[in-house]
Amino acid sequence: MTGTRRWNPLNTPFLIGTLALAVVLVPIQIVRSHALVFELAVCAGMYTAIGLSIAAGYHRLFSHRAYRAHWLLRFLLLSFGAAAFQNSALRWSSDHRVHHRHVDTDQDPYTIKKGFWHAHWIWVMESSSHPLKGVADLEADPLVRWQHRHHFLIGAVVALIPAAIGLATHNLYGHLVIGLLLRIVLTHHSTFLINSAAHVFGTQPYTDANTARDNGLLAPLTFGEGYHNFHHMWPGDYRNGIRWYQWDTAKWLLVALSWVGLADKLRRIPDEVIQRAKLAMEEKRLTARLATAHPSVAEELRTRLASARQRMDHALVALQEQRESLKTHRDEWRTAMLKRRAEVQMAWAEWKATRFLVRRLA
Ligand SMILES: [Zn+2]
Ligand SMILES: [Zn+2]
Repeated sequence: MTGTRRWNPLNTPFLIGTLALAVVLVPIQIVRSHALVFELAVCAGMYTAIGLSIAAGYHRLFSHRAYRAHWLLRFLLLSFGAAAFQNSALRWSSDHRVHHRHVDTDQDPYTIKKGFWHAHWIWVMESSSHPLKGVADLEADPLVRWQHRHHFLIGAVVALIPAAIGLATHNLYGHLVIGLLLRIVLTHHSTFLINSAAHVFGTQPYTDANTARDNGLLAPLTFGEGYHNFHHMWPGDYRNGIRWYQWDTAKWLLVALSWVGLADKLRRIPDEVIQRAKLAMEEKRLTARLATAHPSVAEELRTRLASARQRMDHALVALQEQRESLKTHRDEWRTAMLKRRAEVQMAWAEWKATRFLVRRLA
């Protein structure tokens, strides 16, 4: 590396300062507080609302357009997301889209190839003002533009909700340390862990073309973002944890929001496509294993593996065709129903006209 590091004059003291203050003040408050449970509950509530706004908002909605959101939902996600103090949704999405497009290369703003701590937070401390890239679609949204202009002020207002609770309960200091300071540090580092730990520790069930890993331990902390291998393979899917037992709070929230009409067009990759990618990865690993096995057993197993793979491929194609045939069938049925309804309406009109004529006779 040539030249000296250029530290961002705002981000660097903010990240280091909040962490240092939290390390000193939080343990003292934990020992001395008379209302710790309530302070922690407020902290957990804020952490959840803000973390979900990053996962379901900044990430899945704005960066990846994985679903469509009502303006009220966009307003809430942008307001609470601002309190994460991770810049505006527009800037976050711009950097994140570059991360996906150029993952693991020098163009990736938080490439893991420059080391764990670079990907975790040094990139934030070194970041300088650079033009927005590939976010023209987001700039068309007036709410996104409003948040981009005022994100720091909006974030400050939302982040100070615990201070208002503190004033009302005569415990301002306690809520500032636990509900604001501790919450800021937890929000920062849980998000940062996806860029660092989820590119180092975990499994690669769907692809090994990049460093992203599925990590079930990170998922609850980040409201579902831990399944990062799946996510890098299919970023447009509104889910990250696709199995019922995989913790994905943002996915559950989006399904619930779709029931009440605040979210729709939730995009999901067909199961067969996911299954096929998983099979291809497994086959790659099993073939590598067979390459080191004794030729007497390897040959037989290789033949068996190839035939099992072929059988799986056929079964998956047949399943996909069956699913599509239902869709075609359903479309045909709908068209036929519309036609029949129109026929009934026309016949009814004819009946009424005739009835009118007959009644006039009397
Ligand atoms: Zn990533
Ligand atoms: Zn992403």
